[in-house]
Amino acid sequence: MDLEIKGRHALVCAASKGLGRACAMALAEDGVHLTLVARGREALEDTARMIRNLAGVTVEVVAADVTTDEGRARILAACPQPDILITNAGGPKPGNFREWSRDDWLAALDANMLAPIALIKATVDGMMERGFGRIVNITSAAVKAPIDILGLSNGARSGLTGFVAGLARSTVSRNVTINNLLPGPFTTDRLEATLRADAALSGRSYEEVVAQWKARNPAGRFGVPEEFGRTCAFLCSAHAGYINGQNLLLDGGAYPGTF
Ligand code: NAP
Repeated sequence: MDLEIKGRHALVCAASKGLGRACAMALAEDGVHLTLVARGREALEDTARMIRNLAGVTVEVVAADVTTDEGRARILAACPQPDILITNAGGPKPGNFREWSRDDWLAALDANMLAPIALIKATVDGMMERGFGRIVNITSAAVKAPIDILGLSNGARSGLTGFVAGLARSTVSRNVTINNLLPGPFTTDRLEATLRADAALSGRSYEEVVAQWKARNPAGRFGVPEEFGRTCAFLCSAHAGYINGQNLLLDGGAYPGTF
């Protein structure tokens, strides 16, 4: 299917690895030019080179921290008018809420609520003026079904979800949609860290934890980042203009509700 976004420009945050990189690759395969962001320059340059070779689109990189004002200023200076914005950042640390300080909570809010809102604020009006925009926030299945050791994520991402639920209704008449993608377990560095933390906190072996997480998913496996990226690209397509304000779970059916 032609997604009809060839020649558009996407700003993809936290894109040197994992789910962000998969979104960038899928968009590039559909002819979208990219500005990619991550803090570490080396992995970012590697990803950019790989995508340029694969898809022949222009790929700019900005080595910056999306959670800081200074980082976002440099990102937006490099890419002030994206047609497509994918917000993403590292997830908060796992643990027991009794051990988290106010600073831990502020860091989670900065990364997983306030940074996406700031990037949306800086770009959404331009999208509305130009009559096309697609904003996809990478959040987590934990927004719908909380994971006990990821309380910082459960809380901070729910704040973003509530905010964009309201905003999305005021942008769609100008062909600017805002949706959230809620990953369940996908094979990335982040998942491995979460599984290792679960093993450490529960006293079980890493292999035992992996087997248990897979077994409790109806698909019997973890998601593959490419599956996530292609879904993101479709939400960014010209055909998805009537999908708005949604929270789309990609979790193999793990969430047990009928709706
Ligand atoms: P990942 O494989 O660890 O990749 C994270 C990417 O984000 C890297 O490119 C990293 O590069 C970049 N990054 C992290 N913090 C950043 C920051 N402050 N500013 C700019 N770039 C930053 O993680 P992932 O699995 O793709 O996860 C992406 C998001 O989805 C996370 O928020 C995660 O919690 C959430 N999630 C993932 C899963 C899963 O199973 N994978 C499930 C639910 C939710 P640098 O470190 O160089 O900056």
